Amino acid sequence: MTTNVQRLLESAQNKKILGAYLLVCSRPDVTERLTNDFLMRLFCSNGGCGKCTSCRKVTEGHVDILRICAPKVAELRETLAYVAEKPYEGVYKAVVISAADDMTPAAANSLLKTLEEPPTGVVFILEVRSVFGVLPTVASRCAIVIIAPEPNARQAIAKALNADAAQAAILADLSGGYLDEARRIKADTVFLSRRDDVLSQTHKLLYAKGMAISAFADLLENSKDSIKELLCVMQTYLRDVLIYQKTRNVWLVVNQDRLSDIRKAADDFTSGTISNMIKVILETEKWFFVAVNFRLTVEKMLFCMLEEKYRWKKS
Ligand SMILES: [Zn+2]
Repeated sequence: MTTNVQRLLESAQNKKILGAYLLVCSRPDVTERLTNDFLMRLFCSNGGCGKCTSCRKVTEGHVDILRICAPKVAELRETLAYVAEKPYEGVYKAVVISAADDMTPAAANSLLKTLEEPPTGVVFILEVRSVFGVLPTVASRCAIVIIAPEPNARQAIAKALNADAAQAAILADLSGGYLDEARRIKADTVFLSRRDDVLSQTHKLLYAKGMAISAFADLLENSKDSIKELLCVMQTYLRDVLIYQKTRNVWLVVNQDRLSDIRKAADDFTSGTISNMIKVILETEKWFFVAVNFRLTVEKMLFCMLEEKYRWKKS
C-alpha cells in the first residue's frame, strides 16, 4: 500500500479528516473500492469492520452519503443544499463525485467555495482518472491521493503477496498492477474458481465437437456480478494464444497456469479465428452497460464465437 493511500485510510480511522480529497487512479473500480474503504472507516465505530450496519450502508446506500457522477451546475446546487443540513445519523456527511474530470468548468467553479471551507463534518471525495482532468483551482483545494500501479507489477506482487511467478503474472494482469487490488483478488476464492471454470469452458469451446453452450452460459449467468471481469479473463486467454503464436515467448503469456492449452491452441487455430473471437467478446461487453436480456446476450456471444471457430478452422 502506498503511503498516501495509507495516510488517507488512517485519517478516516482516526476521524481526523480533511474537507476534500482528490483520488487519482486510472482504474475507476480501484478508486471506488478505496472510497468505500475510506467511508467505512469513517462511518464505522469499529475501524471499518465491514460487517456492521454502518459499513453495509456504505455500499448499500447511506442517508449521509451522496454519490453523484460528473454533476452539472444544477445538481451541484442541490448538493450544496444537502451538505448545509446536519447529518441525519451520526456526525459525518460525505459527497462522492465520481468521474469528476468530466465536470464542466462552470460546475467545477460552483464547487470552489465549498471545497475551500466545507461545513463541519462534511467530506468531499472527488474521483478522477488523471490529476490534469480537473481545474488547478479544484485540485489545489483538495488533498491529492495518487493510487498508482506497481512499476514492476509481477515482481512486486510476487514479493508482497508471497505468490509464485505464475500466480503473480495472473494477479498482475487481473489487478492492472495495483497491489491492493491484487491482494483482494488473491483472497477472493469464489472469483478465482470462476476464473478457472471460465478458462476451462473457453478451451472446451475451442476444442469440443458439437459443444452445447448451455453449461458455459449457465456458468456466466451464475456469475453475473463479475461478468465484466470474466469477459476480461476470456479475452486475456485468447490474447495469450495470439501472443504465443506470434512470439513463442512463454513469459509474455499471462495465464501461466494454462500454458499447455495456450500452446496447443496457438498451433491449432489461425490468428484470424482467435482475433475474431476477441472482437465478439469486446462487442458483447458493450451490451452489459444497457439493459439487456443477460442470458440471450451471453448465448449470442458463445454462438458467434463458435461460428468463428468453424469458419476459420485449420484443416
Ligand atoms: Zn463497521
